[in-house]
Amino acid sequence: MTDLLETPTGSRPVRRAVVTGGAGFLGSHLCTELRRRGVEVVALDNLLTGNAGNVAHLADDPGFRLVHCDVTDYVHVPGDVDLVLHFASPASPVDYLKLPIHTLKVGSIGTNHALGLAMEKGARFLLASTSEVYGDPQVHPQLESYWGHVNPVGPRGVYDEAKRYAEALTMAYRQTHGVDTAIVRIFNTFGPRMRPHDGRAIPTFIRQALAGEPVTVAGDGQQTRSVCFVSDLVRGILGLAASGHPGPMNIGNPHELSVLQIARDVIEATGSSSGIRFIGRPVDDPMVRRPDTTLATEVLGWAPEVAWEVGLARTVAWFRDAVDVDVDGVGEQATVEGVDVGVR
Ligand code: NAD
Repeated sequence: MTDLLETPTGSRPVRRAVVTGGAGFLGSHLCTELRRRGVEVVALDNLLTGNAGNVAHLADDPGFRLVHCDVTDYVHVPGDVDLVLHFASPASPVDYLKLPIHTLKVGSIGTNHALGLAMEKGARFLLASTSEVYGDPQVHPQLESYWGHVNPVGPRGVYDEAKRYAEALTMAYRQTHGVDTAIVRIFNTFGPRMRPHDGRAIPTFIRQALAGEPVTVAGDGQQTRSVCFVSDLVRGILGLAASGHPGPMNIGNPHELSVLQIARDVIEATGSSSGIRFIGRPVDDPMVRRPDTTLATEVLGWAPEVAWEVGLARTVAWFRDAVDVDVDGVGEQATVEGVDVGVR
């Protein structure tokens, strides 16, 4: 076996990986990068918020397989598995507010099943957690040692608490069953394959600007986000997978922008004549968000490389090309010829 996952600080032999949520935004980029590095990939996805079109470019690749499966039902993968990347979960507020119970189930039962797979196979397990475990943080920037400020009974609680439970379950499997686990806390990430209607700020702004519609900024737009281009995130996640570190580890770009600045930059990058319209802020919308990435730098030698302007230009270019691709809406069941969907 060759050492297919490498970082500046180490490498790990991985021949076959399972990616839950592999047809989603992040999952599809992970599958693509794993295949580029020669790792065989089985993607498990029920296409609830993802789209088989996201992995259509891998359809003819014999080292890739997309299996239609709901990880809250069961997870079964025949053969050896060296790495389980658990990414299945609605992730945008529009999705998890429409799917509150499913979001809690995939974070709890789905995580239990994915951990069970890793235990059965003796595989390393990596949980996609989120900066949302910090809630509306009272510490800035956010360090992994911060426990967060989450409202469990607010509308966002279904996502935040599902991920906090998933982290606790991951640690319990590590301590009780000796599973080799890792937790990554992902901060806002953007890039090609985001859905224009997924409700997150950047795809919404790009869609509105390209359509010449007003760009809708919540509140006064002074709340901040730190946005990471997807290729930087994928490199960090595979770096953590290759290391022996348990996390939790923040991966995100510490470059902090106000939401109003993001809107202005999107308008400029699209060359749009759209204006800005201020709308009400969602309940429990975090005021600030910036990762402290010291741990990722020390352990993995990781730092983001793609500047905001560069990532934004690439994302806008993708949205221009994808305008007639209907990739919006929860519950869409896209199928692509040659992709193994509907197989259980
Ligand atoms: P996404 O909605 O594009 O992808 C999630 C995927 O999971 C979809 O393909 C969906 O169909 C699938 N899925 C949902 N429920 C499932 C189930 N029960 N069984 C099988 N598949 C299921 O979202 P994303 O942005 O790619 O996020 C992926 C993961 O990363 C999520 O766990 C999310 O919480 C985490 N994350 C993402 C971000 C971000 O900025 N994108 C930030 C923090 C954390």
